[in-house]
Amino acid sequence: MRFQDVIGHHELGAKLRAGAKAGRVAHAQLFHGPEGSGGIALALAYARYLHCTQPTDDDSCGQCSSCKQYEVLQHPDLHWSFPFFKKDGTEQALSQPFQSAWRERLLKHAYFGQTEWLESIAADRKQLFIGVQEAMELNRKLGLKAFAGGWKILILWLPEAMRVDTANKMLKLIEEPTDRTVMLFVSENSNQLLATIRSRVQAIPVPRIESNVAIQGLQLHFGIEEKRAKETVRLTNGNLAEALRIIESGESNDDHRLFTQWMRSCYVQDTVTMVELAEDFAKPGREGMKQFLRYALRMIRECILGNYGASSLIRLTEEELEFAKKFAPFIHHGNLLELCELLESAHRDIAGNVNGKIVFMDLSARVNILLRKAG
Ligand SMILES: [Zn+2]
Repeated sequence: MRFQDVIGHHELGAKLRAGAKAGRVAHAQLFHGPEGSGGIALALAYARYLHCTQPTDDDSCGQCSSCKQYEVLQHPDLHWSFPFFKKDGTEQALSQPFQSAWRERLLKHAYFGQTEWLESIAADRKQLFIGVQEAMELNRKLGLKAFAGGWKILILWLPEAMRVDTANKMLKLIEEPTDRTVMLFVSENSNQLLATIRSRVQAIPVPRIESNVAIQGLQLHFGIEEKRAKETVRLTNGNLAEALRIIESGESNDDHRLFTQWMRSCYVQDTVTMVELAEDFAKPGREGMKQFLRYALRMIRECILGNYGASSLIRLTEEELEFAKKFAPFIHHGNLLELCELLESAHRDIAGNVNGKIVFMDLSARVNILLRKAG
């Protein structure tokens, strides 16, 4: 990850490089912005620039031994920390057992969010955190001499996951930094950070990427075709982590197909098709069924927004928009609340392991009645 690989934020990149060239490097910096804005990408490009032995005004060189080490994320003076869980059978809660999963995740690309990280480490429903033992380990690591004799850099993702005692331990590092140490915190919810930390770091806002820049970025850096890039950026408001999540799952088209067929069959009470669709619904497993129900809920809400003249709020693909226009008249204040409650309760049933086909058939019968209710 060099500055040329970072999507958008060109001015911010130039400012960071100019500061580095002039020797103005704050030892604790907070890159903060919403998910999918590229905070990790920027921090990584900046760290690489600081470590590069031949940097130009525009970027790290890409050739020196330090740059080569960054290519595989194996620089001895670049340290990472992030939220994790305590592995069964381990004595201390340290990020060490998760470092290779982290490298692997990051080598895919730097535009991921907490959802992807949870999947990467198979955390399921475990609570992730950065604990006090991890903070002590970071104190130790940053207290050592730099291997290459230059900067020692820590990139810590989601400092808001630090508990109070952890944050207090980190404060010591922030207030009394060891020589040539740079700490880059990358936050998605900096308002959850302790004020004592927030007031002692240099804040660097990393705003949401503008839509046209995000669309270009998806095409250029991820090889996504223009139509798909436009659709997902519109859907996600330029949150690249979410956009890539949708693109990589490839499931949204299936959800849309199932939803449209389902709504039609509910409206005309076509039970044969409903039974067939119940099979399709149950096929992808519990997580897939939950995702579909969330999708259905969103679509129904979007229809009512369209109904009531707030069409600028609608975030739909072209296909979905076409369907929503035809379907919107059937959603109104006389049935909206009940429809949403039905979908939410179906979601709870699926999460609670009730048979998917039964949930779907029951839901279909109730939706049929509600869709026929006059507005
Ligand atoms: Zn270099």
